[in-house]
Amino acid sequence: MATIFDIPSSDSSAFPVPQYDIADIDALPDELLSSDDVLHDVAEIEVVRHYTSLSRTNYSVDTQMYPLGSCTMKYNPKLNERIAGCDGFAGIHPLAMQARAQGALALLWELSRSLAEITGMKEFSLAPAAGAHGELTGVMIIKKYFEEKRENRRVILIPDSAHGTNPASVAMCGFEVREIPSRSDGDVDIRALASMLDAHVAAMMLTNPNTLGLFDRNILEMAKLLHSKGALFYADGANLNAVMGKAKMRDMGFDLMHINLHKTFSTPHGGGGPGSGPVGVSDELAKYLPVPVVVKDSDGYRLDYNRPSSIGRMHSFYGNFLICVRAYAYLMRLGASGIRSTAETAVLNANYLRARLKDMYNCPVDRLCMHEFVLNDKGLPNGITTNDIAKRILDYGFHAPTVYFPLHVPGAIMIEPTETESKQTLDAFAETLISIRKECDENPELVHNAPHSTPVKKVDAVRAARKPALVWKK
Ligand SMILES: *Cc1c(COP(=O)(O)O)cnc(C)c1O
Repeated sequence: MATIFDIPSSDSSAFPVPQYDIADIDALPDELLSSDDVLHDVAEIEVVRHYTSLSRTNYSVDTQMYPLGSCTMKYNPKLNERIAGCDGFAGIHPLAMQARAQGALALLWELSRSLAEITGMKEFSLAPAAGAHGELTGVMIIKKYFEEKRENRRVILIPDSAHGTNPASVAMCGFEVREIPSRSDGDVDIRALASMLDAHVAAMMLTNPNTLGLFDRNILEMAKLLHSKGALFYADGANLNAVMGKAKMRDMGFDLMHINLHKTFSTPHGGGGPGSGPVGVSDELAKYLPVPVVVKDSDGYRLDYNRPSSIGRMHSFYGNFLICVRAYAYLMRLGASGIRSTAETAVLNANYLRARLKDMYNCPVDRLCMHEFVLNDKGLPNGITTNDIAKRILDYGFHAPTVYFPLHVPGAIMIEPTETESKQTLDAFAETLISIRKECDENPELVHNAPHSTPVKKVDAVRAARKPALVWKK
């Protein structure tokens, strides 16, 4: 693919510099005037066409289905973008006087009340900037809670089916991670949990639904076990798509949790843009939430900094406000019944695809899934691997699923269709995977050497990661 430097100079210019019409000035030193002569004069229309065609070589939710498991790459209604772009939201200064920012504060307050309603948690902080930042906030709350109780607990238990950020957040806070194994049916090995629980354990973090897309059947029992030893129960609710409007994390016995607004609640993500990972806590933990907290009293809404037990600030001002605006717009538009049917459709879509594909590919845990499910490459003929399948999917015009994650399933292919795809699209994706499965028998080289139709063909993945070419050189 050509770069802008490869386009030959044309006789017009995108930006004609006006003739110099002032008297002599001191000439710039030569080294500032030197040029590698690489930037050609290119007309504006050529610049536009070049970058537009480059953008078309990429994937996006606006162009194709994006079944990336654990990421919830769903379609985000454009209305939410319009609302976040309104002057009153986009133009408000973060230091605006609170009396003049009542609308913004009301929105934050109402959003945190909605999240509290959806999860059963008592109070929320909207400050954390992403899921992992929410985890960090949650683990800091756990730490502070035991510090105030003068209990020296330094272990946090995490199942092998957890999201990878969980152990990282725990280690960052100085806790020791101990891994709980899963059983072959995908649930946490509850006997192992019981044997690992002692007075050093501060908490357990459970990704719920777990990274196999399964709703663990022993959550109530886990909560009981943990609480009987004085430990806390943390829910990683980054992907709330399957659960919202159906069941509340607090009712299951979780003491605190985070949510990713940029997954479930309609903020486009994947390009590294801003996110939001609100943290919700039980009554008992509310006093540890980061400052400031939005409160409502007889005078209206205000930011409360007077929280002596707070873990402190986690973000400048009050988190990523416009992500909150999008989430609020999304929630208001759907309402309670819309939230519920979103969850039902997310689960239905995942199970529909699972049912269509589980006899074509190995399905390590074959049971009803939530918003996503996991296949793998076990038993594929001719040495075909998950990587080959993922690359071949690109030739059919779909984004690849998440691969080689979760780590406790070798060669995992993790598929999350989301509720926003139609049955026609789900069928087209299923037919793609079925065709590729046939190719594995009939034309394995075609699959091995994929992709064939993308601008960049099969890359040396190790070299691409270790020695990325980040600068264009002539
Ligand atoms: C995405 C995800 C996270 C991390 O969220 P970031 O916003 O990427 O930091 C944590 N847990 C689960 C289950 C996730 O899917």
